[in-house]
Amino acid sequence: MNRLKGLTCVECGHKHEISIIYKCERCKGSLDVEYYYNEIFDEKELFALDTFREGIWKYSSLMPVNEDMNPVTLGEGNTPFFRSSKLIQKLGINNIYLKNESVNPTLSFKDRPLSVALTLAKQYEVEKVITASTGNTGVAAAAYAARAGIPCEIYIPASTPQEKQMMMEVYGAKIKTIEGTFSDAYKVAGETAIANDWLNLTSTFLNPFAIEGDKTLAYEIYEQYGGVPDWIIIPVGAGPLLVSCYKGFKELQLAGKIDSLPRMVGVQAEACAPIVEAFKKGTKVEPWTKSGKSVAGGIADPLTTYSQDGTRTLRTIIESNGQAIAVNDDSIIKHQRLLAEEEGVFVEPSSATALSALEKMKENELVQKDQSVVCVITGHGLKDLDVIKKEN
Ligand SMILES: *Cc1c(COP(=O)(O)O)cnc(C)c1O
Ligand SMILES: [Zn+2]
Repeated sequence: MNRLKGLTCVECGHKHEISIIYKCERCKGSLDVEYYYNEIFDEKELFALDTFREGIWKYSSLMPVNEDMNPVTLGEGNTPFFRSSKLIQKLGINNIYLKNESVNPTLSFKDRPLSVALTLAKQYEVEKVITASTGNTGVAAAAYAARAGIPCEIYIPASTPQEKQMMMEVYGAKIKTIEGTFSDAYKVAGETAIANDWLNLTSTFLNPFAIEGDKTLAYEIYEQYGGVPDWIIIPVGAGPLLVSCYKGFKELQLAGKIDSLPRMVGVQAEACAPIVEAFKKGTKVEPWTKSGKSVAGGIADPLTTYSQDGTRTLRTIIESNGQAIAVNDDSIIKHQRLLAEEEGVFVEPSSATALSALEKMKENELVQKDQSVVCVITGHGLKDLDVIKKEN
């Protein structure tokens, strides 16, 4: 069965056949993988399928790779989901859940898209993979490339935490440090990929296939929660995790599994919050031109030459009747400690933003006491120790 229908431009709707391309050939908009959903859902009972596989590959009929491919896997996905009783007392909200992505094989959710990306790289027999990264994408790319036996080159801002750089190095990737922001690294990686015909894995919306891996977060939340929570709070850079998670829930709706959708909350650090700014003003997203320095470096993306990626995320937030929230460094550091001390979960500052946002939503009465809220814990605390070192 051919499950893949094509790549549709999210800006102008132009349809492309499946091949490795990054942008709409007409308008340069970002692309979205489309499936023959009816055929897929008719053929097998969704989620009763592929039970011989584990983690994200349980859902391989909704992944954009050939069904007979052996996945490049390290056991990603199937991460813990649990009710957070202490935070419930502290915040006065009855149903707070943590989805702990920090215990994926390379300690962040990026293992989901990178497992898909390297499986695709094998399928297309690419010579080399390349990525720009604020850290976690690079770490995951390096590990999965090692597993696939494909060389990997990574462009990172000089401010990338030592811990993340060391992981990339140990996995054997070639690291190039760029003086500048993530957006600068994005530019160089993109040009190098095109010039050499290498597969670009950069985790904005650039690679439409990789981010399909993020949908599995939705399938797991649905299965572990046993339905659809009212709110899902996700830290965002450009926002593919949030957008793909929502796409996953829409697919569940198409499959007749659910009849409502969650409200999506995108969180950014106040120092670099282009999406939140546009949400407040009611405009499209503009590149962020202020300094942008925050303890939450993993999500500090000024979207310099690709602000339309931020607008895509903003559209999803608005469509879901959600929220975009900016939080400050003091609150991020406070919630990083709180999560560790009260729940035994040590997260990186970028991930603690989800809890900061929930506190702010409570203060501003955006969330009701009896609603259910899932905070996505995107990355592990050991990967970015600067804040902890400074405090001690
Ligand atoms: C990549 C990343 C995010 C943001 O994800 P995007 O979907 O790229 O916006 C959030 N938290 C952490 C720790 C990350 O590494
Ligand atoms: Zn287009």
